[in-house]
Amino acid sequence: MPHPLYAAIEQLKEDFPGKSYSWIKRALLRLGDVKEIRDDLYLVEGRRELGDWKPLYQVWFSQREGRWYCTCYFSTFGMRRRRDICTHVAAVMLFRRYKRALEKLQRRRVYVAEAEVECRGRLTANGELYVKPIGRRDLAFFANPRYRVFVISDVRRIVIKCGSYDVVEAEGEEVPLATAKFLAERFYES
Ligand SMILES: [Zn+2]
Repeated sequence: MPHPLYAAIEQLKEDFPGKSYSWIKRALLRLGDVKEIRDDLYLVEGRRELGDWKPLYQVWFSQREGRWYCTCYFSTFGMRRRRDICTHVAAVMLFRRYKRALEKLQRRRVYVAEAEVECRGRLTANGELYVKPIGRRDLAFFANPRYRVFVISDVRRIVIKCGSYDVVEAEGEEVPLATAKFLAERFYES
């Protein structure tokens, strides 16, 4: 699964195929400057190094015209300065896509299981496998190697193999992906 930000950037590139890498990069640099007021209204902080001449830009969606606007499209006299899409709007689009992708990722559910296994061969599982040896790595360990394992899987029925043999078959516990990742980190710390 691609990183949610990477996916959001790819989508922006697809929607604006004529835009240069530096345009995408400017939108990306502004990502942290975007503040959501409403679903169709945003504030974007100005950045001098990106050629901004105002401390704050307003970006909004016009339902009537079906397009995004930015205060940088207008001069003090209300005239439209440009018709092209600016990187303030691009940053808002990126922000919205990134936020949506993150929400989707947070909703994603996976299954986890933890077990103790004895194995002299190679351990594998039908998911992400985390392994740590139990006890000191002395002669007794090498004669009888035991491991604590943790698995994150997309399927409920988790199977751990030692070589070509199933050594564990367990019903995974359903958790959000973020919880599973947290448990995996803790698994190595404890
Ligand atoms: Zn703008």
